[in-house]
Amino acid sequence: KQAQYAALREVPAVTLDDQRVNLQINAGLLFDLPHLKQSGADGIGLFRTELQFMISETFPRLEQQTKLYKSILDQAAGRPVVFRSLDVGGDKVIPYFRGGAEENPALGWRAIRMALDKPAVFRTQIRALLRAAQGREMRIMLPMISDVSEFEAARGLIDHELTLLKTHGRPEPSKLMVGAMVEVPSLLWQLDHLLPLTDFVSVGSNDLLQFLFAADRSNERVSSRFDSLGPTALRALRHIVREAERFKTPLTLCGEMAGKPLEAMALIGLGFRSISMAPASVGPVKAMVLSLDASSLQTRLEEMLDRRTTSLREDLKRFAAETGV
Ligand code: PEP
Ligand code: MG
Repeated sequence: KQAQYAALREVPAVTLDDQRVNLQINAGLLFDLPHLKQSGADGIGLFRTELQFMISETFPRLEQQTKLYKSILDQAAGRPVVFRSLDVGGDKVIPYFRGGAEENPALGWRAIRMALDKPAVFRTQIRALLRAAQGREMRIMLPMISDVSEFEAARGLIDHELTLLKTHGRPEPSKLMVGAMVEVPSLLWQLDHLLPLTDFVSVGSNDLLQFLFAADRSNERVSSRFDSLGPTALRALRHIVREAERFKTPLTLCGEMAGKPLEAMALIGLGFRSISMAPASVGPVKAMVLSLDASSLQTRLEEMLDRRTTSLREDLKRFAAETGV
């Protein structure tokens, strides 16, 4: 199997009915970058910047951050990289930074909430990202947005940093794109307001499903109580696809679902054409894509999605077996 996947490295991920699917990897350290070439992925759909903060003993300084982001862009060698701004709190702890114990950390003071309340850390990170670009494209993604106003406020801080960069005569990014993660259910009902403002969005299905089903992703007793291939999850995802199509906003999904071939197949059936996953999943997912007829899956899913109350997992397995996926 490994040899079979390696042979697919240079093969573009195109379905039998000619749908190109963008396959990207999730990463968080410089150490992950060789996987980009090895896997033959199209880019880095999620770079988790908190990793540098989590393995460090103190806050990484502006220079250290800039150096890392620059090396990441150097090694990506022109393939797109989406840098997610710091997402700490919840399950992601940094030892030297304690916001105080919280009863419900997943629902607490984390990610963009921290960034907006204590903008110094966020602004330093944005400054590092903008400095690292040096004539290259910079894509910044904001985690845990639950209200359009948070995106607007963060975007304001980013624009301010860009102005400062220009004022100081430093090299600018050739292009700056700012996107949001769709991982808090409240955002599902604001997409018509959010999408016109964002350059792209990426679904964080790990958090989106945890919040949608009120089931802690790190608690095994409850995390498997719902099925990501059940009608509720799939209908929520379909809603996002439809809205992104309506507003012509580039859409990706970067949660764990994307790396499981059956789940990835369902995502393509819903209309996703870009997904981001652990590097080891690129081979198996690409093999699935190459043997899939996306439009017949799409038709099959449409037939089932509004009628069913139970998981579509078995139906999807049957579809895959019948059609040789
Ligand atoms: C997600 O929530 O699905 C996601 C990709 O981000 P993280 O797993 O880092 O929370
Ligand atoms: Mg998340």
